[in-house]
Amino acid sequence: MKRDSGQNREVTSKWRLQTQLVRGGTWRSEIGETSESMYMTSGYAYDCAEDAAARFAGEQEGYTYSRLRNPTAAMFEDRMALIEGAEVARSTATGMAAISSALLSLVKAGDHVVSSRALFGSCRYIIETIMPKFGVDFTFVDGADHDAWTAAFRPNTTAVFLETPANPTLDVVDIEFVTALAHEHGAIVVADNAFASPVLQKPLTMGADVVVYSATKHIDGQGRCLGGCILTNEELMEETILPYLRHTGPNISPFNAWVMLKGLDTLDMRVTRMCENASALADALVDMGGFDYVKYPGRADFHQHDLAMKQMSMGGSMVALHVPGGRDQAFKFLNALDIIDISNNLGDAKSLITHPASTTHAGVSEEARLEVGITEGMLRLSVGLEHPDDLIEDLHRAAHIAGIT
Ligand SMILES: *Cc1c(COP(=O)(O)O)cnc(C)c1O
Repeated sequence: MKRDSGQNREVTSKWRLQTQLVRGGTWRSEIGETSESMYMTSGYAYDCAEDAAARFAGEQEGYTYSRLRNPTAAMFEDRMALIEGAEVARSTATGMAAISSALLSLVKAGDHVVSSRALFGSCRYIIETIMPKFGVDFTFVDGADHDAWTAAFRPNTTAVFLETPANPTLDVVDIEFVTALAHEHGAIVVADNAFASPVLQKPLTMGADVVVYSATKHIDGQGRCLGGCILTNEELMEETILPYLRHTGPNISPFNAWVMLKGLDTLDMRVTRMCENASALADALVDMGGFDYVKYPGRADFHQHDLAMKQMSMGGSMVALHVPGGRDQAFKFLNALDIIDISNNLGDAKSLITHPASTTHAGVSEEARLEVGITEGMLRLSVGLEHPDDLIEDLHRAAHIAGIT
């Protein structure tokens, strides 16, 4: 039936990405609504007690309680699984709920986790502070150093976590290398793909076992809702991750899942345009002179350009830059911007800039910050959908006022 064609994975898996983003997973009620329905319900009523019993016994298809499954969240999950090329997906209230659930469901006391050390601050906190409380040890490595990865594995290493490009340094991890190594040691690889988005990079095709997202970023991408997603194969989901999710309840609200579905409609257009704008801004920032560095994975002078372009179809929406005059000059520059907002969110339609050392990574020790290159002059720019010339003029003016150029 055409009404439910988005549900037929055999058909939808042959669609191109843009069609999948708009129609994948769509399930319509008997009313035939064009937009996905928002099922704001916590529970479900049964025609008879026998039906309730059958549903709980798993003998009858259908919903029982929204902590276990909700039709709107399920549409979002089916669409995410389709575009990622994963067998299954489950959505969560935030990106951190997705990451903590994926990691904590994989480990037990006595296990060891290996992770790249350039990480989103809260990811670092989970591995460094929360997991050790439950007897899980860890090793952080420089994500670009293959020898360090090789040396980090132990007989009890069960999980590997990586983020590429990493926040905020944009360091790239070689996904194929790390996953091959992890699999030799029987460890499961969880990849945080928030910076690249599913439009640019597919870690599962490079060997990763689990992909996690902060859907708050490019997937909503319009500053409205928090959300997250975990994608993997059926076996790992059913046996390991799902039991954890069902009993701990980090679910996304149906309303937010609906907003995310609307975000996916335009994800390809938005991410593509944001990458084009980011590329133009990175070039303009280099041309301005005065910055210690301008890092953009899509530029040939990026230190890991070849690897970045092997793994991603475009350079991404993020630019890292460094002013020579430390925190004072960085703040002057931010305060002089008229269009670009000072905000620690990213992947948004609005261009946003932040000073990681005093915001997203303020909770990380200075030593750990410096180890990954988060210095006082460093800024992270998330490029949005405004006209690039307006943004370039804004950056130009602010750089002049701050005495950078
Ligand atoms: C934002 C972000 C997260 C956390 O996601 P929330 O939705 O804010 O919980 C995790 N990893 C990366 C790379 C992020 O950018």
